[in-house]
Amino acid sequence: MKVVILSGISALGNNPINAIENPASTTTGNQPAPIPFQGLLENEGKIYSNWGLSKSTKPAVYVEPISYGDVQAVVKDTRLFPTPVSPVGSMLSVTPTISNDGGTLLCTLKLDEIIGLEKDEKGRRVVRVQAGCRLKKLNLWLQSKGLEIPFQSEIGDATVGSVAVGDTKDSSLDGAGFFSAGVTAISYVNPNGEICAISDSRDTLSFNEFKCSYGLLGIVVECCVEVRPASLCTSKYSLHQSKSPEELAEKITQLRKECDAFFAFVILDKLFATCDQRYKAGPGSVTPIESQPQFNKLRLAKRSAIQHGGYHGQNTNNLQPLVREITYSRADLVNEYWRPSATENRLDFQYYEHDISKIKAVFSQSHAFTKEFEKKHSFVPNAWALYFINRPESKMKPHGLYSTGPGVSFSFDPIFSNPNDPNWRLFAREYNNLAIKTLGGKPSPIQTQWLRPGDLIIPKKLAHPRFTTNYYLQFLG
Ligand SMILES: Cc1cc2nc3c(=O)[nH]c(=O)nc-3n(C[C@H](O)[C@H](O)[C@H](O)COP(=O)(O)OP(=O)(O)OC[C@H]3O[C@@H](n4cnc5c(N)ncnc54)[C@H](O)[C@@H]3O)c2cc1C
Repeated sequence: MKVVILSGISALGNNPINAIENPASTTTGNQPAPIPFQGLLENEGKIYSNWGLSKSTKPAVYVEPISYGDVQAVVKDTRLFPTPVSPVGSMLSVTPTISNDGGTLLCTLKLDEIIGLEKDEKGRRVVRVQAGCRLKKLNLWLQSKGLEIPFQSEIGDATVGSVAVGDTKDSSLDGAGFFSAGVTAISYVNPNGEICAISDSRDTLSFNEFKCSYGLLGIVVECCVEVRPASLCTSKYSLHQSKSPEELAEKITQLRKECDAFFAFVILDKLFATCDQRYKAGPGSVTPIESQPQFNKLRLAKRSAIQHGGYHGQNTNNLQPLVREITYSRADLVNEYWRPSATENRLDFQYYEHDISKIKAVFSQSHAFTKEFEKKHSFVPNAWALYFINRPESKMKPHGLYSTGPGVSFSFDPIFSNPNDPNWRLFAREYNNLAIKTLGGKPSPIQTQWLRPGDLIIPKKLAHPRFTTNYYLQFLG
């Protein structure tokens, strides 16, 4: 991979950072750290859990770097910071992607500055932001400048570093629907502890591959993300009940064609869908005053539904939309979620990508599977989230999700409100067989649980041993 190794200046610009003095002379191995590690370090055997309290890990060392030099110090020193070193942000992910027993867990949340706006080598307007910045913070900052990124999914707590090299989904207006599509440059700490800068202007192929690497090639410390003038969205909400899963799939296909972006919350066992048809509504960075107070009620209701994993107590009357039509800023609908306790209803989900041509088959077979499972175990998921994503050319997204060339994908994700419920776990494991093996759906190592080797393959060239945990090792091929 062609990369620019920087010393003494910001990886993507001229901001002073604690970079190593002479990267060319450094090699791998037990080298002393360039400077002593200054951030938070915990090595007393604490256990760390994900947001949903369903996955835990006991690293030998947990660190929160407060400078790029700290990240370099960790990666370089294999004695103090045992291999593998794995980066995390808000630890929202539902899978064992955060697991690193006996290794070094590196949390980026204290590297969360928004450095500023600039024009890149291709003349695009980009925002330069540190890896630990949360998406809500980024959205608010851009809103204040009349700008936006196209990816505006509801999750405000996810960090830029994670979503730049990981998997995401959003039914975006005028956008691909996954965050990394808008990332134009990245700086990261490589296995030698050097800061490297790569961008789509300099080396498209290796840059696009790096964006599919889940942190296995290096720890992202800074990114540039393309921005555009902020725009408003009009959502038209409607409820649909169908007689068959095929009819529901047809209705949804027709509704999607009428609008600019489409999202639905489907109660599959009841053949019921709450549909959100999104339309471009012209320029604007904040929700118009005339949309209030309905918009804020809608925002809080949506946040509550997501926080609690779509819990509706099987009463579909709760799902009546609060408004039929509303114009708003999508950035205002990006929410923050509180860390739940183990006794609270909280979101858990499974992710699968399918080509749009398979929508009827996916609805039909998933419905049959769900009804059969209900008969045996008296259990159904609370709902299914349906997103549509626009796939780019394969060279833009060479591996993993959305990598099969131009077209439209949808993700049809069962969700539930207790990640530790044994029936939900069984449902998710058994449904993996149908969704991945029979229906050919693509899973994600950070958004699909209970994966087995062979369910997905991450090319070996995208992983370095210094960063590769046992969880990821099983998928390398
Ligand atoms: C309530 C809730 C709502 C959600 N809604 C959505 C949604 O609408 N759309 C969507 O796409 N997802 C959604 N998610 C999933 C979530 O956005 C992703 O799992 C996201 O990756 C989490 O970001 P994080 O900072 O918590 O990553 P973490 O869980 O902390 O890390 C996940 C992985 O990202 C990689 N990584 C993290 N930081 C770095 C770094 N600096 N450098 C390199 N690699 C790194 C590592 O592989 C790490 O294991 C939701 C999750 C929850 C809990």
